Amino acid sequence: MDVNFKRYGLYLVRWQLSTPLLAGVLILLATMDPLTATVIANLIGGLIFFWVDRFIFTSKVLAAQWEVKENIKCVDCGKVCRGYRLVKTTNYDKTDDHAPEFRCEACSEKKTEELRARGVDC
Ligand SMILES: [Zn+2]
Repeated sequence: MDVNFKRYGLYLVRWQLSTPLLAGVLILLATMDPLTATVIANLIGGLIFFWVDRFIFTSKVLAAQWEVKENIKCVDCGKVCRGYRLVKTTNYDKTDDHAPEFRCEACSEKKTEELRARGVDC
């Protein structure tokens, strides 16, 4: 199974966020029957986290894999610095690129905009 660690990490963080939310609701509803309070707390959690989970599991932005390398020469401006290159998204794959092109942060942002304009999910 191919695990996207960005999605997995965000999902684990999201579970941690649900803990204080549910605990807070249970404290507010402390005078209520515990079972009813838990049902209400889970309903509130579900109303919020449905949207968070949907983003985590369907966002095309999270599908993008980037490679970051120190001390590269930017293919566009020639600056020697930390470089970025888009390796793979849902509809773009440079995994087996024999001459990978790295760009500085500024040029990488411009290139990303160009790719988006061409319909690449990034
Ligand atoms: Zn550059």
